[in-house]
Amino acid sequence: MYRSHTCGELNSSNIGNDVTLSGWVQKIRNKGFMIWVDLRDRYGITQLIFDEERSSEDLMKKAATLGREFVIQVKGEVIERESKNPNIATGEIEVLVKEFAILNASLTPPFTIEDETDGGEDLRMKYRYLDIRRNPVKNKLIFRHKVGMQVRNYLSNQGFIEVETPYLIKSTPEGARDFVVPSRMNEGQFYALPQSPQTFKQLLMVGGMDKYFQIVKCFRDEDLRADRQPEFTQIDCEMAFVEQEEILNIFEGLTRHLLKEINNVKVDTFPRMTYDEAMRKYGNDKPDIRFGMEFAELDDIAKNKGFNVFDQQELVVGIAVPGAASYTRKQIDALINWVKRPQIGANGLVWAKYNEDGSLKSSVDKFYTEEDLKEWAQETGAKPGDLILVMAGEANKTRSQLSALRMHLGNEIGLRKSNEFAPLWVIDFPLLEWDEETERYHAMHHPFTSPKIEDIPLLATDPGKVRANAYDLVLNGNEIGGGSIRIHDKETQSKMFSHLGFTEDEAKEQFGFLMNAFQYGAPPHGGIAFGFDRLTAILGGQETIRDFIAFPKNNAGRDVMIDAPSKLDEEQLKELSLKLNIE
Ligand code: ASP
Repeated sequence: MYRSHTCGELNSSNIGNDVTLSGWVQKIRNKGFMIWVDLRDRYGITQLIFDEERSSEDLMKKAATLGREFVIQVKGEVIERESKNPNIATGEIEVLVKEFAILNASLTPPFTIEDETDGGEDLRMKYRYLDIRRNPVKNKLIFRHKVGMQVRNYLSNQGFIEVETPYLIKSTPEGARDFVVPSRMNEGQFYALPQSPQTFKQLLMVGGMDKYFQIVKCFRDEDLRADRQPEFTQIDCEMAFVEQEEILNIFEGLTRHLLKEINNVKVDTFPRMTYDEAMRKYGNDKPDIRFGMEFAELDDIAKNKGFNVFDQQELVVGIAVPGAASYTRKQIDALINWVKRPQIGANGLVWAKYNEDGSLKSSVDKFYTEEDLKEWAQETGAKPGDLILVMAGEANKTRSQLSALRMHLGNEIGLRKSNEFAPLWVIDFPLLEWDEETERYHAMHHPFTSPKIEDIPLLATDPGKVRANAYDLVLNGNEIGGGSIRIHDKETQSKMFSHLGFTEDEAKEQFGFLMNAFQYGAPPHGGIAFGFDRLTAILGGQETIRDFIAFPKNNAGRDVMIDAPSKLDEEQLKELSLKLNIE
């Protein structure tokens, strides 16, 4: 038996017991006549003591050879500790070692295995297995497990069945590039890894499974903007014979269940906001509603006052920043420079201070009287002490720039509190989105999403106006889930493909299987998928998903620990009938 107890288990009730422990050497303090060792495993740390007076000379000598991260097994007696440590569960005792074995020696680790480590990100990723020994990483993996268990409990209790779907499939259009896998047995042909199990879950509905879920890996070959992973995990769900309302209720229930079980937080009914409203009020389809600073459109009151910077623009829009009237010139300049950076790309920022004494002062005093500025304050909801910030330009662009500024200020002022949770549904997304580059419409969600029946006539006349039965669940400014009611008949589905620019043959070649299935009694159905990594990170009060993934990839999509991707040797390439076309 390697151990009778874990390293996190013993306390004063065990004093006098003989125990066996196994673990890693975290720390050694050698005073010559006495040696203390902190022994660590997943469950905690137990202090071991070797004492000249009570231990043999051999034992003392052997103990002196121990190094950090050695794996050892010790047998000894639990005794009361002289200087107790109230900060750890085992802090009242220590184990007086009577014998021990070195199960495995260790090289000196390349960074300290402590909560606060001296290892940089790259080094920790290369030795991720050592990083995982550290509490901050280990605890996040345990946390992820708990979230996963709660998801399974809730959905299983609601009658959902977890069904696995294949990884070696044909392309699924979720808007990214596919990762592909050459087939040895089918020369010159490739599988694609699923961007999501979308078509399979719909086929499970045709198969009569009624309620499906899966915690599943998805693969998308996209440029890795900050905090994206080429492989990530979804909680993927689908239901038959449902309307949007029932899906929203079930998954609002899931989110509420998680917030309660994991965070001990109770939230009211989730507010709902249409896509149009979200864009108008927050410039963003995933607004963080933990704080206000809602957009106010100022066209009527700010245009035609002689300030031609505003006059020529499609939209003049502002926000009130609480308590920021006291910002110095320097602080305001920093904000102006922030929005002018190429990442944001704004031309500038107009400001007006609503001073505590009720007076108003702006960067455009030449054109606007105090009375005018009072109107700005009224529209933006500014109170004495607030700072009004205004941007102008092409409507969509300006909204998204002001949205970025709003989030930046939310962070800066500390309004985005990680222990506060503000979920909401964003509904009525547009069905289609115009793509400037390819000059055609793309499905905003995916091509299987059904249009709102009343909007179908618009498909022929004004496709951009057609709304979809699509919804996103947003939490603290992050899209954590998205889904839709699907098309479930062949005619509508092939019409949709043709609107998206597929020829009949292309549609048949890529999605013939789905349209065929729709001819054999497909039930009305719909579903949703949650980003499991992101959801876990947010519930864990963090914004980065990487720490919640055991073996994440870096920004270049590399696993630096196993050094992947890597080259294939000639033999393998030949077997796969592949020839590389690189210099
Ligand atoms: N497959 C979709 C996605 O990955 C989710 C859904 O429509 O259920 O975003």
